Amino acid sequence: MDSYVLFGHPVAHSRSPWIHAQFAAQFGYEQSYESVDVVPEHFEETLWNFAEAGGRGANVTLPLKEQAAMLCDELTPAAARAGAANTLIRLPGQRWRGDNTDGAGLLVDFERLGIAVTERRLVIIGAGGATRGILGPLLELAPRQIVIVNRTPERALQLVLESGAIGVVQAWSLDDLASVGHADVLIHATSAYRADGLPPLPDELVDAETVAYDLGYGASAEAFLAQVRRAGARLAVDGLGMLVEQAAESFLRWRGVRPQTAAVRENLRRLLADG
Ligand code: NAP
Repeated sequence: MDSYVLFGHPVAHSRSPWIHAQFAAQFGYEQSYESVDVVPEHFEETLWNFAEAGGRGANVTLPLKEQAAMLCDELTPAAARAGAANTLIRLPGQRWRGDNTDGAGLLVDFERLGIAVTERRLVIIGAGGATRGILGPLLELAPRQIVIVNRTPERALQLVLESGAIGVVQAWSLDDLASVGHADVLIHATSAYRADGLPPLPDELVDAETVAYDLGYGASAEAFLAQVRRAGARLAVDGLGMLVEQAAESFLRWRGVRPQTAAVRENLRRLLADG
C-alpha cells in the first residue's frame, strides 16, 4: 500500500487525511495518509525514517514548510521561489523533490469564484509561509500592485526583496493599515485564529468593489469575514476551496492524475458545519 503523510506541528486538526482519502477513492487506490505531529528539531530524522520505510510522498504544514524546502534534494521553481515546500515527492533513493502547491491551489479557487487579479490592487495581510507560497503565482497574473501588510514589517520587506518585483510589491506595517488605501482583492493570511488580534479594518480598505478571501477556513475565518461583510465587500470567502485545490495539486504531482474537487469541497463544508 502506498504511504503518504502530513508533517506539521500541530496537525491533529487537519482535514488533509480526509481529503486525500476521498481523492484516492475516486481512482480506487489503496493508500495510507496519516498526520504526523513533529517538532522542527525532529523533522529531518522523521523525514529520513519515512523515506527509508518506503514513504511515497508528504505534505508539510506549519511550522515546517521552510525547513522542508531546505531538506529537499531538489526544488521545483514554485518551491524555490517561495523558499517553502508543502509537497514532497519521493525520488529514487532517500531523496525528495520539494514543491509548493499553495499558489496553484489559490489560483484554481480564484478562477472558480471569478476573482480577477490582473491589473487589480491586492492587499495581503500576513507575511508568513502561506504568503510566500502565493506571492509568485499571483505576480504571474500581472496585478497592478500587491501590498503586503504584516505585524512584523521586516518579514513583509523580506518578501518584497525576494519577489524581484520591487515597486509592484510593497511592504507595510500592520500599525499603518489605516493608510494602506483601497483593496480590489483583500487576502487575509495570518494565523491569528480570531481577527480580534487584528486592528479594525479601515473604511478606505474595503468597499462594494472589494473581494475578500481568508486563507483560513471554517470557524477560524469567521471573524475576518464578518468584518469585511459589515464593510460591504462584494464577496467574502474562506480558504476551504484553496485547501481542497492545493491538496488536489499535491495528488496530481504524486499520482499523475488530478482528482475531481467539487463534491469533496461541498462534503467537507458539510462536515465542518456539523462540527
Ligand atoms: P505562518 O508562517 O506562521 O505566518 C503567520 C502570519 O500570521 C505572520 O504573518 C504573522 O505575523 C501573522 N500573525 C500571527 N498572529 C498574529 C496576530 N495576533 N496579529 C497579527 N498577525 C499575526 O502561517 P502561514 O503558513 O502563513 O499560515 C497563515 C494562515 O493561512 C493560517 O490560517 C493557515 O491555516 C492558512 N493557510 C491556509 C491554506 C489553505 O489551503 N487554505 C494554505 C496555507 C495556509 P508576524 O510575521 O508578525 O509573526
